[in-house]
Amino acid sequence: MKHIVMFSGGVGSWAAAKRVAANCGTDELLLLFGDTLIEDEDLYRFLREAADNVGGKLVWIAEGRNPWEVFRDERFIGNSMADPCSKILKRNFLRRWLDEHCDPSDTTVYLGIDWTEIHRLDRAASRWAPWTVEAPLCEPPLRTKEELLQLASDEGLQPPRLYELGFPHNNCGGFCVKAGQGHFKRLLEVFPERYRMHEEKEEGLRAHLGRDVSILKDRRGGHTSPMSLREFRKRVQSEPWSVDELEWGGCGCAVD
Ligand code: SF4
Repeated sequence: MKHIVMFSGGVGSWAAAKRVAANCGTDELLLLFGDTLIEDEDLYRFLREAADNVGGKLVWIAEGRNPWEVFRDERFIGNSMADPCSKILKRNFLRRWLDEHCDPSDTTVYLGIDWTEIHRLDRAASRWAPWTVEAPLCEPPLRTKEELLQLASDEGLQPPRLYELGFPHNNCGGFCVKAGQGHFKRLLEVFPERYRMHEEKEEGLRAHLGRDVSILKDRRGGHTSPMSLREFRKRVQSEPWSVDELEWGGCGCAVD
C-alpha cells in the first residue's frame, strides 16, 4: 500500500505526514511537493528539514512554469474566483504524476487540511476520485495551527518564516492570487521588492492582454472594479485607512 502526502512546505502537511508515518510507517511513504518556482527561500529549507524529520521519500517535482507564466499562456490573470496557477501547477500536475506513478487501487492520498477546513475535504474527495483521499488532521486529536507550530518546534524544526511574518500560509512566497487586500498589504510591508516584482508582472500582462484586469478588486462606493497591484500600492501609501485590512483570502492550492 502506497501512502502519498501532498507535502506543500507548510506546517499542516508536515503534521499530516507525521500522523501517516506514525500509523503506516515510512517504507511506502512519499512526500510529494509541486514547486511553483516562486516559493519563499525559507520554504525550501523547511521542506528538506521537515522531510528528514518525517522519514519517507521526498518527491520534488515542478511543472516548469511559475504562476505568471501560466497567466500569460492562459491569457488570464488569476483572482479570488479563478486560480489557473494552482489548477495547472498543483492540482492537475500532481494528479498527472499520480496517474503515471501510482495505482488508485493500492494508494491513499493525504491532504494537510485540518478540522477547521473540513468542508474542503468533501470537495477534495470528489475531485480526487478515484483516488482515496484522507485528511489526518481532521481526525482527533484536533490541533490548532499554533499547536502544530509548537509541535514542529518541539521536534527541533524551525517553522517556516512566513508564519512568523504574519502570513496565513507558506505558498508562493507570501503572494497569492486568491488573497485579499490585507494579505497584499502585508506582502508590501514585509517584502516590498517581492511586491514590486508582482506589480511589474501584472502591469506587463495587463499591457500584453490590452484589458483592465487585475488580481484585486476595488469595492468602494458599492461598485466592483479591477484594482491593479500598482493602484493598490499607491492607495496603501496615500490612503491607508481605505484598505480592507480584514480581507485576507488565501490559498488551498492542492485541495480546492
Ligand atoms: S498560492 Fe495562490 S498564487 Fe500560488 S499557485 Fe496557489 S493559488 Fe496560485
